[in-house]
Amino acid sequence: MESALELRRRIAAGEISLDSYYEALLSECESAKARFNCLTAITNQLAMATVERLKTNMKNDRPKGRLFGLPVVVKDNICLRDYPTTCASKILENFVPPYDATVIGRLIAEDAVIIAKANMDEFAMGSSNENSAFGPVLNPHDITRIPGGSSGGSAVAVAAGLTPMALGSDTGGSVRQPAAHCGVVGLKPTYGAVSRYGLVAYASSLDQIGPLACDVESAALLYSVIAGHDERDSTSAEISICDYPAEMQKSVKGLRIGLPREYFGDGLDGEIRTSIEAMIAQMKFEGAEFVDVSLPHTEYAIATYYIIADAEASSNLARYDGVKYGLRAKNDDLLSMYTNTRHEGFGAEVKRRIMLGTYVLSAGYYDAYYQKAMNVRSILKREFADVYKVVDVLLTPTTPTTAFKIGEKSNDPLEMYLSDIYTVSANLAGVPAMSVPIGRDGKNLPIGLQLTAKHFDEAVLFRVGKAVERLAK
Ligand code: GLN
Repeated sequence: MESALELRRRIAAGEISLDSYYEALLSECESAKARFNCLTAITNQLAMATVERLKTNMKNDRPKGRLFGLPVVVKDNICLRDYPTTCASKILENFVPPYDATVIGRLIAEDAVIIAKANMDEFAMGSSNENSAFGPVLNPHDITRIPGGSSGGSAVAVAAGLTPMALGSDTGGSVRQPAAHCGVVGLKPTYGAVSRYGLVAYASSLDQIGPLACDVESAALLYSVIAGHDERDSTSAEISICDYPAEMQKSVKGLRIGLPREYFGDGLDGEIRTSIEAMIAQMKFEGAEFVDVSLPHTEYAIATYYIIADAEASSNLARYDGVKYGLRAKNDDLLSMYTNTRHEGFGAEVKRRIMLGTYVLSAGYYDAYYQKAMNVRSILKREFADVYKVVDVLLTPTTPTTAFKIGEKSNDPLEMYLSDIYTVSANLAGVPAMSVPIGRDGKNLPIGLQLTAKHFDEAVLFRVGKAVERLAK
């Protein structure tokens, strides 16, 4: 897939006709939807209405937005007015939001063309995209394998060439994991960098919307459009958007790159280790300096994450009671309406998490689990802060293995949770992290490398990511 910038240039210059491009693309979406189950809806009407507006703008020589004419696919937990936002759940199957998420408003303001909503794990709970109420998403590199979750549909849309850019959300790895498994770039921004207004909440202190893209440059472009303060999200930060294209011109010379030893222990696939080592050697040759560092509490990250995420989820999902949104089950009285709706509407994984979350928040267990997890979270955060006094960026694998077979881990939730080992810490600490493809394993499956930086230093991720991308070619 050509980069977003090149595609925009050709569309803006009139080298590609918007009409024929989108006519072909929307039918390609239909076929990708059938082959990979990656989309929940194709937004034909919105796309064609946008195309009409852009054509009029071109005709009248009006200024063109930074995403002029570029197709974008949006994860189905981000509200898009007048189209269902299902979160891949039966409980929201018929929920049509009357408003746009802030990120949607920003895409439209820059003349992007939204072509589809992407399939995902139900309520973004999952690592493999097998938890969708609409069936699993298939990896285009091998359709017997998972694409990674929970933003699997968004990653597949990019990997299948439907779009150079898509939006996902990342609570514990859901942008980076599918990016790694599908061979695309995925960024989890710093907590607070991108507005969550209009993102259906899973675990509010961890959730961030982030770009998936065919290359680092396209990810940077999309990030620069969606990032920035929003008065409708009280956790959104005032940030300055750097000149990312200029950052991406710089080499890695003189940068200090940390290798946290806890991320290279047992359990890391041998081929992933070898390709990361080869990349490190190339980066040394370009003048980067590597430093061995330690984040000793990493071993508690999974337990900490699943306690906090499930606790927040159990509270956030209390709103689906048959009264306010979506599904309302048959009932005889108020209580049976609540219970039947939740029983019928939620899938098994969502129910498991609501129960776990309710348990760790209950009076007798709060101190033993939730409070303890919050304490560990503070320690992890401090460990990251300390390490960034010594290094500019951390380099790790994104996932312990390449894409596994559909069904391989679905009966063992603990095993599934362990596949998040390298991604959850960034969410707990709130720092930005990006997955960049660095090659393939012996089965020809993509391998991802993860870069993590200090709060609000997305610039260094784009800079190092661009170098990694070039060296991986
Ligand atoms: N796999 C993790 C979970 O299931 C992360 C999901 C996400 O980032 N949304 O919670």
